Amino acid sequence: MSSIIQLLPDHVANQIAAGEVVQRPASVVKELVENAVDAGASDIKLIIKDAGKTLVQVIDNGKGMGVTDARLCFARHATSKIRLAEDLFSLDTKGFRGEALASIAAIAHVEMKTKEEQEELGTHIVIEGSKFVSQEAAVAPKGTSFSVKNLFFNIPARRNFLKSDTVEQRHIVDEFQRVALAHPNIHFTFYHNGSEMFNLPQSNFRQRIVNIFAGKTNEKLVPIQESTEIVGIQGFVCKPEFAKKSRGEQFFFVNNRFIKSGYLHHAVMGAYEGLLKDGMQPSYFIYLDVPPNTIDINIHPTKTEIKFDDEHALYAILRSAIKHSLGQFNVAPVLDFERDSELDTPYHYKNQGGSFPTIQIDETFNPFSQEETKQSRPLTGGGSLGGGSSYSSYKKPDTSSWESLYVDLKHDTAALSGGVDDRGMVSGGMEDMQFETEIVTSRLFEDHEVEKVVSKTYQLQKKYIVNPIKSGMLIVDQNRAHQRVLYEQFLTSMTVHQAASQQLLFPLNLYYSSAEMELISELKESLKTTGFVFEETDDEHVVISGLPVNISESEVPSVLGQLLSDLLDGIPENSFSQNDSIAKSMAKSLAVKSGAYLTEKEQENLINDLFACKDPNVSPFQKPTFITLGVEDLDKKFAI
Ligand code: ADP
Ligand code: MG
Repeated sequence: MSSIIQLLPDHVANQIAAGEVVQRPASVVKELVENAVDAGASDIKLIIKDAGKTLVQVIDNGKGMGVTDARLCFARHATSKIRLAEDLFSLDTKGFRGEALASIAAIAHVEMKTKEEQEELGTHIVIEGSKFVSQEAAVAPKGTSFSVKNLFFNIPARRNFLKSDTVEQRHIVDEFQRVALAHPNIHFTFYHNGSEMFNLPQSNFRQRIVNIFAGKTNEKLVPIQESTEIVGIQGFVCKPEFAKKSRGEQFFFVNNRFIKSGYLHHAVMGAYEGLLKDGMQPSYFIYLDVPPNTIDINIHPTKTEIKFDDEHALYAILRSAIKHSLGQFNVAPVLDFERDSELDTPYHYKNQGGSFPTIQIDETFNPFSQEETKQSRPLTGGGSLGGGSSYSSYKKPDTSSWESLYVDLKHDTAALSGGVDDRGMVSGGMEDMQFETEIVTSRLFEDHEVEKVVSKTYQLQKKYIVNPIKSGMLIVDQNRAHQRVLYEQFLTSMTVHQAASQQLLFPLNLYYSSAEMELISELKESLKTTGFVFEETDDEHVVISGLPVNISESEVPSVLGQLLSDLLDGIPENSFSQNDSIAKSMAKSLAVKSGAYLTEKEQENLINDLFACKDPNVSPFQKPTFITLGVEDLDKKFAI
């Protein structure tokens, strides 16, 4: 009986492996440049044509290969870098799978010249689609030169799949920068279509960063340094004031290998806590040294994630090292300047003795007679703004005013206002505000006039909405308040599955990386419940034909982009479910920002909406949405 199972012919097996290793020209760049680094080169040249679609060439002055190795290196699982399974745990080279050259040779025209230092002659090999075309002895300088032409010549589908030159080139630059940043002791040059893109002399980490990113990079960098048993940390983070809207220059290297880690990114962001405006991203270049046997990089040939033995300790050490540096270089106190100087006591009042505030008490007030307090115009702050307040018709019949709404929350708000006290702004809590009198006002004005005054809101610094309330002043952070409102709206529509959707005249085509596309397909069902309508998705793009009503077409890319980056990071916070994360992220993206002008009507609506929320006193990220400033606090200020 002949057997059914047959080994795949080598060239077929190689093509399959190639699919994993080589996705685009940038993958070839990565593999060849890393091989050159592993070969101990001190000088590496990268030459590409047409974003690598026509040519990727890497020339190094490393140790080269002898005749046998020159041929063997194209065989699958041929590697000089590990011999035993145990070696996998003490890896100090980039490559180790012995798959890259075999894969590249399976799908391109490859030419290699290589010579070891001590040899007279080197070897010249031509291999096309896994077939050796020629091999001969040749004159060559010490080191190795690989040129890879006509990538995917035998897999037209893959070739057609490549993106524009601009996109492919950007991927190449990314790969190049990652290796160049990890190895400042190597001289790198990079030519594209004949012009020099980078020329990076041998230097140190700081100089290498500056040479790559040019401009004023140097003055933005704050060094970090830490050395413990489980990790050595060095590198640079950027000063908070240079943080940017977009991600970008954020690099982690572990034992000189570029990695991505949402978890460590979170540690960095933690160190910047309170120093960055919402949504701003700091640049960082962080080099970690860990004992090779405490990490596992053998996850996937092209993936940049790795596993650490002791992630939690690493997280804590990294965060505190950065915090320390930001503090030490006097970066942290910058925040204090954000304090609103208008709220400081003008200095000429400072040394004038003040009189004691007098308190008038309404002796007829009985806190236990609820009827009284609601019906008649109350003399205490604990009641409502007055039955006839212009908001009384708003939504829920039982929520006749904002004040009555948040009085229920008084424990929380007392805590909140206490927290802001050190800025010298806020009350000691709601309880203290009960004994304010309105005798004077109610005698001077007719009821409806009082209400008019009371209902006025105004915007402070396009950031806060201020509203006089009976006991003093309500100050709402417009961004956080709106986040809360949107968050609850999204959650509601997601749980009742009744989101309204606006149909787009022209469907939107959005392109994403494969990792992002994976995530989108995971999130698709949840996103549909918010009002998104997906026409189709393949592994490169989505077509969207309908949107949630509260998102405009132009906001979609940034909202989805933010959502993906929030979730790709795997931020370890208390998100109870995927829906919750989506609602949070979209609320963050869509909420009115500080700096946005709001009409009086919008201010009013926002406050109404906020206090109609289930949990109005904090944003979805647990930050206070409003504070109150009691008349008492004002009195205290004036008494100074
Ligand atoms: P890996 O890097 O995983 O070992 P590769 O397929 O990339 O696998 O390379 C196979 C082998 O070829 C390497 O282990 C190394 O011995 C040799 N090699 C590849 N590139 C070079 C180079 N530029 N200089 C010297 N040797 C090289
Ligand atoms: Mg390799």
